[in-house]
Amino acid sequence: MQTKQITDKLQRPIRDLRISVIDRCNFRCTYCMPEEEYSKHYRFIEKKNWLNFNEITRLVKLFVQCGVSKVRLTGGEPLLRPNIDQLISQLKDINGIEDLALTTNGSLLGAQAQALKAAGLNRLTVSLDTLDSRLFQRISGKRAAVEDVLAGIASAEQAGFSSLKINVVIQKGVNENSILDLVKRFKGTPHVLRFIEYMDVGNCNHWKSKFVFSTQEIVELIGKHWPIKPVEEQYFGEVSKRYQFLDGEGEIGFISSVSQPFCQKCTRVRVSTDGQIFTCLFATKGTDLKNALRTQASDQDLLQIIQNTWTHRDDRYSELRSQESPQKTLVTSPKIEMFQIGG
Ligand code: SAM
Ligand code: SF4
Ligand code: SF4
Repeated sequence: MQTKQITDKLQRPIRDLRISVIDRCNFRCTYCMPEEEYSKHYRFIEKKNWLNFNEITRLVKLFVQCGVSKVRLTGGEPLLRPNIDQLISQLKDINGIEDLALTTNGSLLGAQAQALKAAGLNRLTVSLDTLDSRLFQRISGKRAAVEDVLAGIASAEQAGFSSLKINVVIQKGVNENSILDLVKRFKGTPHVLRFIEYMDVGNCNHWKSKFVFSTQEIVELIGKHWPIKPVEEQYFGEVSKRYQFLDGEGEIGFISSVSQPFCQKCTRVRVSTDGQIFTCLFATKGTDLKNALRTQASDQDLLQIIQNTWTHRDDRYSELRSQESPQKTLVTSPKIEMFQIGG
């Protein structure tokens, strides 16, 4: 397969593709999909409009031709998509993909970790914001138990996922007291905690900058208990700032999209469950691929859409947000929701 690396208006290459395979979720995290907005009356994307596995596979091959080498499956909750392991086995052999990963809330891993490994998934990221059962219930919208996620992590280990990434979103006044517990639990294991600053994604989490517990605050807090030092960036576009424990007991990462935006190095493209391309987490509109896919478009036609979309991209929402007054969010029209494009 021939690769022609395309770049956007700010000279950023396209490298990472995130595919949301389903917009539904069995959790209702307050910062992503609050229950009051997404109760049983909310209409999720109809099944007939989900890209099927052959459509996804075809698109992934085309994205690879434009320069993508990393693919992540996400959602909503990707393990709710029936037969997700089949999609993984279709994608894993595509020439040019160096890394195939999946982000999950972990609650369904107990039943699926073995199948994901057998299908050829390279890496797993599990989201876990606290070890405290009551607080976990509250953050996940009373839909889930922390014990299920911990059991899911154990199943992933048994299935052979030797090093997981564990995503932690910290909201000030909600779960900053969980930081040290989480570090204690995972320090010295092969797993890597990644603290993510709470973001103003979507339209309904009532985000305010005063709810952000910044990377600097977390680094200081952890550093008081276990000395850490920053590690050199490994590659262009590495989103997570990595730190090492000085006692040699592993690493932690920080995704500081609010306090230290990294738009200049953003190489990510996202495709929603119904086949729209989004070039920013904070986009207000996407570019449709589904219609072309379903009306006999040639690979060349599809490539043209992908290339046009990326080469015209000039998104840098987080950078612009940081130049605004800290209380203000940059809302012009409704943004895409996080569960529709998967983070
Ligand atoms: N359901 C899966 C999960 O939770 O891992 C995958 C989709 S979820 C949208 C992907 C990631 O986005 C999760 O790690 C979640 O914590 C993060 N996320 C969701 N809303 C966020 C927000 N407002 N700020 C920062 N991260 C957020
Ligand atoms: Fe579901 Fe993940 Fe959003 Fe939580 S963060 S509501 S688990 S999609
Ligand atoms: Fe990329 Fe948009 Fe996030 Fe900036 S705000 S890093 S352009 S997704």
